[in-house]
Amino acid sequence: MINLVLFGKPGAGKGTQAAFLKSQYQLFHISTGDLFRHHIQGATELGKLAKSFMDKGDLVPDQVTIDMLEETVTKNPDVKGFIFDGFPRTTAQAEALDAFLSGRSMGITATVALEADDDVLVDRLINRGKTSGRVDDQDETKIRNRFEEYNNKTAPLKSFYIDQGKFHSVNGIGSVEEITNRLTALIDGLL
Ligand code: AMP
Repeated sequence: MINLVLFGKPGAGKGTQAAFLKSQYQLFHISTGDLFRHHIQGATELGKLAKSFMDKGDLVPDQVTIDMLEETVTKNPDVKGFIFDGFPRTTAQAEALDAFLSGRSMGITATVALEADDDVLVDRLINRGKTSGRVDDQDETKIRNRFEEYNNKTAPLKSFYIDQGKFHSVNGIGSVEEITNRLTALIDGLL
């Protein structure tokens, strides 16, 4: 089984690259952001709760996020592996994920961070916001708040995974294809 964690600030290209990796390695893609947006569309209680955080660019509380993630993994027992996209985003989530996976005789194979400068990312997100309709992509203050959340809560996960010997980073600047090639070279070298 291959279980990959895709890391990166908002706009780093996690979703785009996950879509490719999913078919290349036949993995099941779980994006917690997409799951929340699905709940928002369905106007579920979880969707209403998540929206109140997402619209401001804040992280959704850990426990509801962890519960949703675990439910999705549990519902897909027969897959070859998972791409976790946008999860974990806090140390509590990373610890919960490790405990949950090891309880099922699974584990994280590797964590890959897509690295890019904030200014490049802001431009990408503002452009995406013109077509995505995402409230959190349309306002630079909200985008900067998402970066703050990343720096404060998600960046510490780098040392969490370095300590486990599972942290890798890839230059996220370039064409989609160039970045895909960098990712594939890295992942093939790990398998
Ligand atoms: P994304 O689509 O990954 O950019 O996520 C969009 C928003 O969903 C984030 O800004 C958070 O508000 C929320 N979100 C997604 N994944 C998580 C997570 N693992 N923990 C907390 N909030 C999350």
